[in-house]
Amino acid sequence: MNSDELFKKACQYIPGGVNSPVRAFRNVDMVPVFINHGKNSKVYDVEGKEYIDYIGSWGPLILGHSNDEIISNIEQVFQKGTSFGLPTEKEIKLAKMMCDAYPGMDKVRMVNSGTEATMSAIRVARGYTGKDKIIKFEGNYHGHSDCLLVQAGSGALTFQEPTSPGVPNDLIKNTLVCRYNDLDDVVKMIEKNKGEIACIILEPIACNMGLVEGERSFIRGLRELCDKENIILIFDEVISGFRIQYDGAAGYFGVVPDMACFGKIIGGGLPVGAYGGKARLMDMVSPLGPVYQAGTLSGNPLAMEMGIRQLTYLKDHPEVYVYINEYAKKLQEGMEKIIADYNYPCHVQRCGSLLTLFFKKEQVKNYDDLNNIDLRAFTAYYQEMVRQGIMLAPSQFEGIFIGYKHNDSDLNKTLTALGIALKKAFGHVND
Ligand SMILES: *Cc1c(COP(=O)(O)O)cnc(C)c1O
Repeated sequence: MNSDELFKKACQYIPGGVNSPVRAFRNVDMVPVFINHGKNSKVYDVEGKEYIDYIGSWGPLILGHSNDEIISNIEQVFQKGTSFGLPTEKEIKLAKMMCDAYPGMDKVRMVNSGTEATMSAIRVARGYTGKDKIIKFEGNYHGHSDCLLVQAGSGALTFQEPTSPGVPNDLIKNTLVCRYNDLDDVVKMIEKNKGEIACIILEPIACNMGLVEGERSFIRGLRELCDKENIILIFDEVISGFRIQYDGAAGYFGVVPDMACFGKIIGGGLPVGAYGGKARLMDMVSPLGPVYQAGTLSGNPLAMEMGIRQLTYLKDHPEVYVYINEYAKKLQEGMEKIIADYNYPCHVQRCGSLLTLFFKKEQVKNYDDLNNIDLRAFTAYYQEMVRQGIMLAPSQFEGIFIGYKHNDSDLNKTLTALGIALKKAFGHVND
């Protein structure tokens, strides 16, 4: 069956035919591409078509698909049993690796997804401070738990509405929303809610409204504010952790949060999340403390083993970061040359190995700046890229993920495709 046929069948049994809405290609007027397998920088669809893959499972596969070194003899782990509901040594090993890597992190608890990680970290911050209110930022995504699914439209600063039906207003009345990269906005929000705020959670490098890097003064300013006002600072490093550099955005900015959330890369493609931080906070977690959090499959041996292997490789091969950042830089420069040659109304934003080609000229610093994007042109560009065998996230508001297996030939093919795709998208420009 081809993707069209599989999608029809999938829609019969799975809502929208997909198990996560980001996989639907509705945005770009396409049917999802159903994948058969992946190897290194490529994925292959059910009809055998090859794509250079820039999704990398949305970040986890920083070392490429089915990387020989990472997966070798992995079946031996299976043969010893997949889950026990009892502790294993592997859990300690991954936890220690993460605590050794991440600034200021004394202890870490494994969960099964990024959603669980952020939800649990917030529970700990609330339990520890005895306060209910939290601050998040417009356009930052922290998974789909109720209190974090707050829409950030205009006027949302004072009146919150849930992004989704099914989230009662009562559950989000304590979620305050501020503008990203706007410290004054946070100062005002804290003033208005003096002594009532448990925590501030953010993506220090925002990857879910396109790539928008937090400004250094903003990130440092938040740390100072949190210290002054006794607020727990939580970095959501589910994408940035072990990607921007081995010690994440915390290392990149030189700012140590009180807690941090992880996912994606630390599972090497298996379902894993984790939250950790200072011992005084993490010791609040059950069974040591009163804040309850649990998980039947948390820390299961297969996921731990994949995480250990991937982090071990990254730790032992710092050249990975040099390589992926350099590749991303070359991709950016290639894109910028094409854009400049034809004066396309586009620009690129990049941080390390993450980048977004925005279909507008002006810099994007926060959610408000996501106006006037030429989504019609994005769709035309996207369809042409996929036709030419370049797999990108099917949305303007996502990033391009570079991995260690992307090679020079991939880079050249991508830029050639990009030149053609942009010409198609802006057929009217400079004709
Ligand atoms: C993907 C993501 C999450 C949610 O992780 P899941 O494993 O999908 O639940 C949370 N925060 C950020 C920044 C993410 O990119």
